[in-house]
Amino acid sequence: MLKTTIAGSLPKPSWLADPNTQVFAPWVPPAERLRETQDDAVRLALLDQEEAGLDIVTDGEQRRRHYIWGFLEGLTGTDTERLGRKQQRGGRYAKEQDVARIVGELTRPRPIMVDALAYTKAHTRRPVKVPLPGPMTIVDSTLDEHYRGDEEALAMRLAALLNAEARDLAAAGADVIQFDEPCFNIYLDKVKAWGIRALETAIAGVTCTTAIHICYSYGIPRVLAWKRQNTEWGQYGVTLPLLSETKIDQISIECAASGVDVAVLQGARGKDVLLGVIDVGTEEIESPELVAARIDKALAYVSPERLFPCTDCGLVPRTRAAARGKLRALVEGARLVRGRRR
Ligand code: ZN
Repeated sequence: MLKTTIAGSLPKPSWLADPNTQVFAPWVPPAERLRETQDDAVRLALLDQEEAGLDIVTDGEQRRRHYIWGFLEGLTGTDTERLGRKQQRGGRYAKEQDVARIVGELTRPRPIMVDALAYTKAHTRRPVKVPLPGPMTIVDSTLDEHYRGDEEALAMRLAALLNAEARDLAAAGADVIQFDEPCFNIYLDKVKAWGIRALETAIAGVTCTTAIHICYSYGIPRVLAWKRQNTEWGQYGVTLPLLSETKIDQISIECAASGVDVAVLQGARGKDVLLGVIDVGTEEIESPELVAARIDKALAYVSPERLFPCTDCGLVPRTRAAARGKLRALVEGARLVRGRRR
């Protein structure tokens, strides 16, 4: 019970990507040395998680410049070089941002992350989770110049491609496949209209555990500024009951740094909950007691077998020292609660 995991990403070593621009990190090594340095970074990311004692690990997303682009760059019909401008995330965090473009028919000529998964599996004995971007969040994060601005059509096309990738990853030994959908906290009408359907298409027939990660975005300055002034935290109250009707196995939610009332977890009936108990927007390392208190609160609504202490979101913007400290705090906090319940 109370198995620990992370949302997905960890900071990249400075020899792989500039620590000051980690969310859209340009690679430091030249192309011919990129694979070798990414391999090394994955081994370190696994080691950090194993030394901390995490139960379910990821590759720290060390091979992705950005959590959306890692998938997009494997498709035809996308351009992550000549970017467009667009308002995304409902304008919460910025008026307009640079975004990748959809410039043609989207196809997946070959599996995108299966080789990376094989490397990860070869270097850890722990269960491995592979995060993929969710269809709605990809739609929001790209400028569509091909599907005539029909968001639903684009989402369903992406869902079919993500499903093919997820099936291949499951067949290659992924233990958990997680779809990152921060937009499920923003466009509640679209979640109802086609977001849930796109998610169900993405997970259909996937033979391993499936998860959705819904957060209030990275712990970076413009997001933190939005969170400080935000007063409406009722989004999970809408999405969790909708998700509890789907076949998704796990739901990852942000609880440490948001103003979310954990009583909302009553709506996640029948699902595993990956509970955010680590704030990813600060370098300050939580005490195990604080983590334990956050877990305890949620145990009023979720059984310990279904509760997975987790980070709020990716740790990519943090320093490596802070990330390691937070991983340890996560595991020690869960251990405290487990010890008391024996
Ligand atoms: Zn997140």
